[in-house]
Amino acid sequence: VQEGAPEMNADRPPGSSVKLTHPDRIYWPEDGVTKQGLVDYYTQVWPKIAPFIVARPLALLRCPDGIAEACFFQKHAWRGINKAVKLVPDPKDKGGEPLLTISDFDGLIALVQAGTLEIHPWGAPLAGLEKPDMLIFDLDPGPGVGWPEVIAAAKEVRARLEADEMAAFVKTSGGKGLHVVTPLSSKAGWAPAKEYAKAVADAMAADDPDRFISVATKAKRGGRIFVDYLRNARGATAVAPYSSRARAGAAVSMPVTWAELDQLASAAQYTVDNAPTRLASLDADPWEDFRAAAKPLPAGKKR
Ligand code: ATP
Ligand code: MN
Ligand code: MN
Repeated sequence: VQEGAPEMNADRPPGSSVKLTHPDRIYWPEDGVTKQGLVDYYTQVWPKIAPFIVARPLALLRCPDGIAEACFFQKHAWRGINKAVKLVPDPKDKGGEPLLTISDFDGLIALVQAGTLEIHPWGAPLAGLEKPDMLIFDLDPGPGVGWPEVIAAAKEVRARLEADEMAAFVKTSGGKGLHVVTPLSSKAGWAPAKEYAKAVADAMAADDPDRFISVATKAKRGGRIFVDYLRNARGATAVAPYSSRARAGAAVSMPVTWAELDQLASAAQYTVDNAPTRLASLDADPWEDFRAAAKPLPAGKKR
């Protein structure tokens, strides 16, 4: 992994030199989770979350006074930003504001200190902003869709990816749906990546129009799952694995194994509170092979 690597080799938890103010500030009132509670959570999951948030452009959902007060999505710097949050110019946005990124555990704690309750990285690293290194299929159930149907949709995406000899990993969103993620090794740019993701979504909608839809029109979603491939574009983001969500319940986006999926009760099953227990009880990281499983985009063909 990137710059976070030395700390991640340590068996002891990482420490941060970032000054935390108001550690008792309540971020999730119904759940009683405080700023310090979120720091403790990220201290435990740091080795797991680091590969997905270090050295990538980040969009942040900040709620400085917790989820009951104003929250805002932020892609650029703010006044008083901590120096552990780094600013990097976007070579394709000359004259625009720099992108935000972090390079270490201090950066993550600086985000929490600033009231960041959700972390949404790009699907490409700073080292290759034009070369996505993962694709995400964001399964968004419309009104009336049951949870078992969302699980079935994730399996359907997996089957289609595997038919193309691509790997498929699944995580809860911490909200309503599931995210199926495939690691990419290809040197392809954003256009073919998005084209491939769209082709998978379109094929699902064409083959099973009662279950799936591949256009974003909310009005048409009733009873169906939107296979949201639109995360796969330059500058688009999706919530990081292990990120908390600024929603009641203090859920997190949690990587799971395909075998576990049928046992899952909801996309919000894992939370800031119960995630550490889950992680401690696992024999193996469900996404252990994520990077090693990366494949190039399949060469253009009909699917
Ligand atoms: P759910 O399972 O409830 O759908 P989700 O994280 O998949 O949870 P979506 O609404 O499907 O939520 O995804 C929206 C995505 O769009 C987010 O993951 C985020 O990266 C991005 N996003 C969210 N809010 C904004 C915003 N204000 N501006 C730009 N992009 C946003
Ligand atoms: Mn979604
Ligand atoms: Mn979506």
